[in-house]
Amino acid sequence: MTDTYNAADLPFTGSPVVPEMSDGNKNIQFQCRKGITCWNACCSNIDISLTPYDIVRLKQHLDISSTEFLHKYTVPYELEPNGIAGVKLRPIENGSACQFMTAEGCSVYADRPTACRYYPIALLSMRKQDEYTDTASYALVKEDHCLGHQEPRSLTIDEYRKEQGVEEYDELARGWRQLILKKKSSGPSIGKPTKRSLQLFFMVCYDTDRFREFVISEGFTELYDIPADEMRKLLTDDTELMLFGFRFLKQVLFGENTIAIHQATAAKRMERAQGKLQQLEAEAREKRAADADGIYENEEQ
Ligand code: SF4
Ligand code: SF4
Repeated sequence: MTDTYNAADLPFTGSPVVPEMSDGNKNIQFQCRKGITCWNACCSNIDISLTPYDIVRLKQHLDISSTEFLHKYTVPYELEPNGIAGVKLRPIENGSACQFMTAEGCSVYADRPTACRYYPIALLSMRKQDEYTDTASYALVKEDHCLGHQEPRSLTIDEYRKEQGVEEYDELARGWRQLILKKKSSGPSIGKPTKRSLQLFFMVCYDTDRFREFVISEGFTELYDIPADEMRKLLTDDTELMLFGFRFLKQVLFGENTIAIHQATAAKRMERAQGKLQQLEAEAREKRAADADGIYENEEQ
């Protein structure tokens, strides 16, 4: 099964993606149905990236924590060299099939990931210059093993998206896609992200349950001014927490003011940071002076 694609990657030789971009009004001929000869062929050889919302839905379906889900069912990958990480579904041990594939079909069907819902459509994220919002465009994926293209059913891409329930998934992944586009657009101008910021991005986007622990930590609540009602939602609702996380990352990684902070705590922290900086500068000055004395004494001897 194919994944969603970036417009920059297309068209490429040998790709099963038909190199013709379309909008949602385009008609396609396709139907996947139980009993079709190629049943499960697409789930036997997977390369599926997950969005943060995919993870929320799957971990809830399996009734496990996001940390456990990431450990058992995913592998991380680099969305761009030296950049932020993405997460893919981990296939079965020593094979390429999806762990959720059964003879009857997908065992997590009601909560299957975005890429599985979209198939055989490839979602292309297009960004207009100087904009951080993406515009969707689509292409058709035609793989030899998939016989759904020979079924006598025609519908538009938008109808297919509705049927597969991707609208909600796209809506809830928008903040995450924007963060990635923003990071890609800022490129080398803000330099290589620090290890800490990469870890933060990973935790906030993919490991919701660990992020929740972070949000209720003393350091966080001391600095961020979250109204009680909102905090209650963050503690009980994974999707709300995920959306809050996207806002939080905009603030931390790109300096946008998206979450109120307690000014007194911020001022105290700034004071502490400045004090530490002054102390480091004083130590560096002392060291330089000591080194200079050493050189002077050596020259005198
Ligand atoms: S999650 Fe379901 S639909 Fe997606 S690859 Fe796995 S078995 Fe197939
Ligand atoms: S028709 Fe295509 S999507 Fe459906 S089971 Fe066959 S290979 Fe998979």
